[in-house]
Amino acid sequence: MEKLSIEDMAVFCKRKGFAYPNSEIYGGISGFWDFGHLGVELKNNIKREWWKFHVNDREDIVGMDGSIITHPRVWEASGHVESFEDVMLTCSKCKERIRADHFIEDKLKISVEGLDSKEIDKLVNKNKLKCPKCGSSFEDIKDFNLMFKTNVGPREDKTSVSYLRPETAQLIFVDFKLVVENARLKLPFGIAQIGKAFRNEISPRDFLFRSREFEQMEIEYFVHPDQTDKCPYVKEVMSKELNFYTEEMQQKNKKPIRMKVKDALNKKLVSEWHAYWLATEQKWFTDLGANPDNFRIRQHLKKEKSHYALDTWDLEYNFPFGWKELQGFSNRTDFDLKQHIKFSGKDLSIFDEETKKKIVPHVVAEPSLGVERAFLVFMFDAYTYDKKRGNVVLRLHPRLAPMTVAVFPLVSNKPQIVKKAKEVRDGLKKYFNVFYDQGGSIGRRYARQDEIGTTLCITVDFDSVEGSDVTIRERDTTKQVRVKIKDICHKIWEYMEGAQFEKLGKKIR
Ligand code: ATP
Repeated sequence: MEKLSIEDMAVFCKRKGFAYPNSEIYGGISGFWDFGHLGVELKNNIKREWWKFHVNDREDIVGMDGSIITHPRVWEASGHVESFEDVMLTCSKCKERIRADHFIEDKLKISVEGLDSKEIDKLVNKNKLKCPKCGSSFEDIKDFNLMFKTNVGPREDKTSVSYLRPETAQLIFVDFKLVVENARLKLPFGIAQIGKAFRNEISPRDFLFRSREFEQMEIEYFVHPDQTDKCPYVKEVMSKELNFYTEEMQQKNKKPIRMKVKDALNKKLVSEWHAYWLATEQKWFTDLGANPDNFRIRQHLKKEKSHYALDTWDLEYNFPFGWKELQGFSNRTDFDLKQHIKFSGKDLSIFDEETKKKIVPHVVAEPSLGVERAFLVFMFDAYTYDKKRGNVVLRLHPRLAPMTVAVFPLVSNKPQIVKKAKEVRDGLKKYFNVFYDQGGSIGRRYARQDEIGTTLCITVDFDSVEGSDVTIRERDTTKQVRVKIKDICHKIWEYMEGAQFEKLGKKIR
């Protein structure tokens, strides 16, 4: 099937209640999106699965939840006030503002990742690039800081300026000492956080991919400064296959190579910690139904790396508009903790029992993922048009699907069937997201649920009233089994845990 465009996905999401442009009745506001009745369920499921996998199921990671506005010195220490900038072009006539690197990449089909404003300016002049809106030339190029400013308290002057956080990471460094002491963490360990981040992107685009308000799911993973090479968990991922795209492959214009982590480590293409986190994160996606062929891991080029990073890899996804960053993995070293020690004057080092010395741990990899980009990945990989059925089937993983079950009375004009169907719905509601529908033909009702990804449909019929069993239909295969009403709940649990559908009950031919 031809890949759905990002525009088509936006239309589908709006039509079905997944995501809408924010404040559309007032003309909308670029870069802000609202999530509808199904989108909010999918988003909550993504966040819950991420938290369970990374925090609840592990012994070495704990969570925290920092505030969105924090002391402005935090952003001075982190370097954001000084250098969290993109290069901006402004039209001399119509004053249209555009993000220079994306504009040049679109126009000249070259990567300008990591070029500074002077180099970008040269490219604009050399290629005589003009405003895409009115064709006029540009004013002098400018760096534009992406942080949203606000004032805290009733005074609106320099002394009250603060920022909406552009990333969740810094809150973890600022609260580092408290979390470590309270949770009695021992190296290596991680601190995870899910929360909103805000970036005043010059040109938000590609639907949810690049917005001005989004959510991040991040882990800062800390290790002993003398043990940055060895990852105790690397064995778990040795046999995993990843699509490697190293700095050298990019420089030599080679294609990415699929290989086992074990082989990449032998060839010293990647560090143990990066290999572990990249493979673990890709596994999180594919265990939840994403297609492994749509992923690759790309090393940042030297000039592209952030000021703090020793080595950075991205987990990239093959979006309809090209391979793009889904999740970043920087080796931030001890940069952030040391900066906060310097700026706050507080001791953020921890005591190492083994060497009996105080140390400042290193962040070897910082898996940082946007919830909305994950949302798009799961939607793209789930979306299929089923020619035979004549409708879209959204094959979302059962643990992600906004609705787990839909319950239908076979007919709506028989009170005893309707009553029974409502009893079944009420019994399931305590444990699952349940949709009840008695409008239209059964075929139409199945199609409506297929389109929003509902995993199972339950039909209550005449025999259900007499014999206390119902028909359950599987979304992906349309197979049907007959199950006793008293067993439905645990059968659904079994299915969610991976049981084969046919084993849930008596097969219907
Ligand atoms: P990009 O190069 O795409 O601008 P970035 O390198 O600036 O991304 P990071 O600072 O590494 O992104 O942020 C971590 C993650 O947060 C990204 O991998 C992405 O999933 C998400 N993210 C960053 N910026 C945005 C945005 N404007 N809209 C939606 N998600 C974002």
